Amino acid sequence: RGLTNTVLYLDGVSKTFDGFRAINNLALTLEHGEMRAIIGPNGAGKTTMMDIITGKTKPDEGDVYFDGTTDLTTLDEASIANLGIGRKFQKPTVFESHTVADNIRLALKDERGPWSALFGARNRIAPERIEHILEIVRLIDHHERLAADLSHGQKQWLEIGMLLAQDPKLLLVDEPVAGMTDAETADTARLLREIARDHSVVVVEHDMAFVRDLDCKVTVLHEGSVLAEGTIDAVSSNERVIEVYLGR
Ligand code: ADP
Repeated sequence: RGLTNTVLYLDGVSKTFDGFRAINNLALTLEHGEMRAIIGPNGAGKTTMMDIITGKTKPDEGDVYFDGTTDLTTLDEASIANLGIGRKFQKPTVFESHTVADNIRLALKDERGPWSALFGARNRIAPERIEHILEIVRLIDHHERLAADLSHGQKQWLEIGMLLAQDPKLLLVDEPVAGMTDAETADTARLLREIARDHSVVVVEHDMAFVRDLDCKVTVLHEGSVLAEGTIDAVSSNERVIEVYLGR
């Protein structure tokens, strides 16, 4: 089962909470290196879908495969994270009392194994790796600042940088631009497009101008299923999508 050229393959996935079908026969395929935006009204099942991918919630039925052949339905959350699936929740969680650079340093996967941190090996992490990540997330000029002193938008970018430090194959990003200024929102789209050049990315977001800026395929969820899929122009002119959003 699954498809070998896909990073993510969901088919026939359903999940019921207390008799309520939050996910209903959901199918979704993400190619390697693809970025996908997931939109849909409140209660559409976006969060539950992300929870199913990361193993936080187990589906009642259906297939969920990572990297073609890895069955995620049989794995726990920690094992799924270790496969290289990184998730960023809506609210930024950074180490406020540490510098920006130290936040990335703390997040970097230690190639010497789990015990090396005890022997100070973390201090030998190549500074170029930290710099490279800080450049991608636009914080290189702020590397010595305390994370606590960053703007809300910068904290979101720092957390995206911390995800990148763990070298994920697939990034799941939950409403990254909520609470950001327009300028930060535009920068976030640019930053995610850059990351998507060598990662697979799923972005859940409400902000339509931002989704347009992501310049990727869009999946519209409604009542736990895919209502429409395509370019932002195609889905936003789709009759059923308009009906769902405007409640006609
Ligand atoms: P979205 O993220 O698109 O707003 P959710 O996935 O959060 O949608 O929710 C889909 C539906 O499932 C909602 O009606 C929500 O109330 C319900 N739901 C989600 N998680 C639970 C849970 N743990 N227990 C009961 N109902 C839940």
